[in-house]
Amino acid sequence: VSTSAASTIRQVKLERESELRIEVANDTPLKLRLVTGTAEIFGTELPPEIWLTFPPRLKFAVFTWYGATIELDGTTETDYTADETPMISYVNVHAVLEGRRNRAKASSSEGPRVIVVGPTDSGKSTLSRMLLSWAAKQGWKPTFVDLDIGQGSITIPGCIAATPIEMPIDPVEGIPLEIPLVYFYGHTTPSNNVDLYKVLVKELSQMLERQFAGNAESRAAGMVINTMGWIEGVGYEEKLWSMLKDVLRNKQPNVDVVKLQRSGGVVSRNAKFRQKARSHRIREYFYGLANDLSPHSNIANFSDLSVYRIGGGPQAPRSALPIGAEPAADPTRLVHVNINRDLLHLVLAVSFAKEPEQIISSNVAGFIYVTDIDIQRKKITYLAPSAGELPSKFLIVGTLTWLET
Ligand code: ATP
Repeated sequence: VSTSAASTIRQVKLERESELRIEVANDTPLKLRLVTGTAEIFGTELPPEIWLTFPPRLKFAVFTWYGATIELDGTTETDYTADETPMISYVNVHAVLEGRRNRAKASSSEGPRVIVVGPTDSGKSTLSRMLLSWAAKQGWKPTFVDLDIGQGSITIPGCIAATPIEMPIDPVEGIPLEIPLVYFYGHTTPSNNVDLYKVLVKELSQMLERQFAGNAESRAAGMVINTMGWIEGVGYEEKLWSMLKDVLRNKQPNVDVVKLQRSGGVVSRNAKFRQKARSHRIREYFYGLANDLSPHSNIANFSDLSVYRIGGGPQAPRSALPIGAEPAADPTRLVHVNINRDLLHLVLAVSFAKEPEQIISSNVAGFIYVTDIDIQRKKITYLAPSAGELPSKFLIVGTLTWLET
């Protein structure tokens, strides 16, 4: 029997312009460090020598422009080296944006606004992240807008959000959840209420325009907008690209449509994985990435809170109605909801609205999770990031559920 613990450390040598693609094991974290050379993870440079710990299931790549040696400690689901990547074309896009930012700064005008579109699992979030981190590295503070209500990276699912990126994004921690501007849609697919989704996107964009108007620095830095894979069914990227070109040619001649290749490293995620990832995001909101937050269980009287739903549930398609009849449910109607056990295990948003009428146009302060409803005593128990009174009594409910595990 050997008495010395077997070392599990492995070295990987990366040639210039290649990357190490990793899927961390399902139950154990992976430690990794840069030993020689330079390397980055989705646009953020690795510090030399320092061991970084990556949580289970994380999928990422360590890319090097000039060559590097990496050390891994722990097991992976998969890891392999690839020397064919679209990174040159991505960094070329960055260079073009950089030129536009400099021009915007010199003339105190508007910097570039990039919207990344494509099918699910084409690497949109990853490209957004690289463009933001590269810009932040040069000292810009670009705004990240995430319109992906399914797998967004700014806050919990069911929301659209924006936040300035002031530093390259941490490969482990992701985007700091400091003061994002968040609007609560309440569902994880747009089809639940397309009209509401559009209204919220408009609210968010108006708010950002107002912020840009008073801040030349962020106006020049511009924004990167991530979307969800809304072209599903439309088919191939080629089609999407020519369609966008056609639509925009007449309406928005100053918009450039650039077709970029999907990286071979992008990992496809099935419905179950996505559901799990959503659940993790909500857990992370309350408990922190490394269980480092202590949420508080609070009890309130029914009368202390006012719960609203937006829209009258799924709408009957016009084709299902008698000829001439209009669909009854207004998708953006505010509906007061009686507190009962239907709210159990739902995640609700706490609105910044001062009056119910302002709820749709208001962003949200945060979220609570309903853990108990006592009908007899008219008491609601909920988990919140902290103890004490909520910033507002106006809550918004959708279909976002969570089962604490
Ligand atoms: P969706 O629209 O479905 O949210 P997406 O198009 O935004 O997907 P990403 O989230 O960017 O896709 O990528 C999917 C997964 O693949 C992520 O877990 C991401 O970390 C991983 N990934 C992306 N690029 C690489 C790469 N080069 N090597 C390894 N993993 C990668």
